[in-house]
Amino acid sequence: HTKENGGNRLGIYTPALSSKRVERFNMENGLRYALERNELTLNFQPQVSLVTGKVYGAETLLRWNSPDGTTIQPGEFIPLAEETGLIVPIGQWVLEQACVECKRWIHAGMPSLVISVNISALQFQQDDFPEIVRNVLRNTGIEPFNLCLEITEHTAVQNLEHSIRMLGELVSIGVKIAIDDFGIGQSSLLWLKKLPVHIVKIDPSFILNMIEDSDDDAIAKAVIEMSHSLGLSVTAEGVETERQLERLQQLQCDRIQGFFTGRPMTSDQFIAYFLEISSWMNE
Ligand code: C2E
Ligand code: MG
Ligand code: MG
Ligand code: MG
Repeated sequence: HTKENGGNRLGIYTPALSSKRVERFNMENGLRYALERNELTLNFQPQVSLVTGKVYGAETLLRWNSPDGTTIQPGEFIPLAEETGLIVPIGQWVLEQACVECKRWIHAGMPSLVISVNISALQFQQDDFPEIVRNVLRNTGIEPFNLCLEITEHTAVQNLEHSIRMLGELVSIGVKIAIDDFGIGQSSLLWLKKLPVHIVKIDPSFILNMIEDSDDDAIAKAVIEMSHSLGLSVTAEGVETERQLERLQQLQCDRIQGFFTGRPMTSDQFIAYFLEISSWMNE
């Protein structure tokens, strides 16, 4: 065995290091063909309004059914897809397929549902991204208000001038913009008032322990109040218990997404979920 590119600082071979490299190489190769081999699938996780109790929409979450029969979670392959640039064609596919599914939901009697799609930094940096979004809306026939694009706080603050221009164009199309993973970045909050965005998503790391940890509760409360005073609405992610739901309702959080109201599911399961909640509410 020889050391290839000096990835190991000391230049000392270890079996563990070597197998990590092989694993990465195999995954990168596999990911290259995942799209054309139809190995990527989408899950949808419900977002529920705390004001009306109704289903607001769903977030699109990518899964990779690898040839060895296991399902790989995005945390394991999205970073690699971003490093290799493969996230651009993959993200484009996700955007299109999500809108195709949303069109099905509209046909099934849910005209005002909002489909949320995660947009990675590389996609957001493409100058023709607004054109891409316009084309997808046109080709799938959903309305701009049916689509929400999720940009992480990290992506949004990387290049503020670009973000202001890009978000301005996207907002003028009529789509919604959500800031994802809010609160975990190091950035100042000043940028938030400069950017045209509609929704702030509180990161699960603040919600998971908010009942036990008064600091987390204070952060959630502050984010909700600040967002509201800037005219933005708030989605709390990672809600797993009824107590968290009740506390967030008390704090006037607008909507929640989490295992308590629904795990990520298939498109068909989401339609059934929606119909079940609607019939329960009409009883
Ligand atoms: P995210 O956009 O913040 O998505 C929310 C993550 O929280 C999802 O993980 C979801 O399954 C998880 N989650 C939801 N409710 C709960 C809960 O009650 N408790 C806990 N512990 N977790 C909960 P997932 O599906 O593994 O996705 C992880 C991340 O991968 C996403 O974070 C997003 O950043 C990225 N991702 C997923 N799909 C895509 C995609 O199509 N494109 C891009 N660029 N990134 C994606
Ligand atoms: Mg997201
Ligand atoms: Mg998030
Ligand atoms: Mg996240």
